[in-house]
Amino acid sequence: MPTLGNPAGTLEILKKYNFNFQKRFGQNFLIDGNILNKIISSAGITRDDFVLEIGPGIGTMTQYLAESAREVVSVEIDRALIPILADTLSPYNNVTIINEDILKVDIAALARERNNSRPIKVVANLPYYITTPIIMGLFESHVPLKSITIMVQKEVAQRMQVGPGTKDYGALSLAVQYYAKPEIVATVSPECFIPKPNVGSAVIRLTCHDKPSVTVPDERFLFDVIRASFQQRRKTLTNSLSHAGLPGITREAVEQALLEMELSPSIRGEALSLEEFAALSSILYTNRK
Ligand code: SAM
Repeated sequence: MPTLGNPAGTLEILKKYNFNFQKRFGQNFLIDGNILNKIISSAGITRDDFVLEIGPGIGTMTQYLAESAREVVSVEIDRALIPILADTLSPYNNVTIINEDILKVDIAALARERNNSRPIKVVANLPYYITTPIIMGLFESHVPLKSITIMVQKEVAQRMQVGPGTKDYGALSLAVQYYAKPEIVATVSPECFIPKPNVGSAVIRLTCHDKPSVTVPDERFLFDVIRASFQQRRKTLTNSLSHAGLPGITREAVEQALLEMELSPSIRGEALSLEEFAALSSILYTNRK
């Protein structure tokens, strides 16, 4: 039975170790058992699963994961938390703690060595200051992934989930939707954490596609086009792309591609779906000088 995930258990551990929260590490610990159960059930964790947890803190979610998964590897940057984790996770023999910055961990090697290269699940209450690099790092490293179920800032969850024509739609929405199907499964109030964050939070599940949702000749070029298209939101796509410094891409090439796609020359990036970005980047890539 988890001993954490409630205010009393958490405060007891914090006091026992005289723990000082590190703001720079985005430390907000969960104290709500209902939210923790919701995360575990949304991630669909079973005894078959190998789970990577990012930022275990004092081990709250780790306890819940250890109860349901076959094996859990948790990566924590803060050295001060390591002895605490040894204590709170002592009842479990299926948890390994790695004291490292997640951005420096070779996750593909972990999946290879610990899960026979079969797809892994990632579950985390993320440190909000590096949400995007963590998610993009996971996707771009081509680690075999089943799903990523994460607590993030509410606005970031919305950005991942929305489609064209909305104000939150942008490069992050497209990148996430290229690799996965996003679904917000819970919104979470600041009261569910110690200390309370100054922003609302949400749990989002990204169910990873077996292969990307669109096919392009060059994945990196697709993302260069997407990034350039949203660099200045008020500019037309033609202006953004012709001034982005993409090698071999001229204003004429962009106009010609939009014409070929029967799109207006004054269209903005936020109006294009992922399929349209894929088509546009394929035409530009094929015609580049
Ligand atoms: N999982 C715990 C919970 O839900 O109570 C703690 C979540 S807290 C929002 C984020 C955790 O990530 C903290 O423990 C923090 O020290 C850790 N962290 C921050 N940056 C990290 C990094 N680059 N690599 C690994 N862990 C990191």
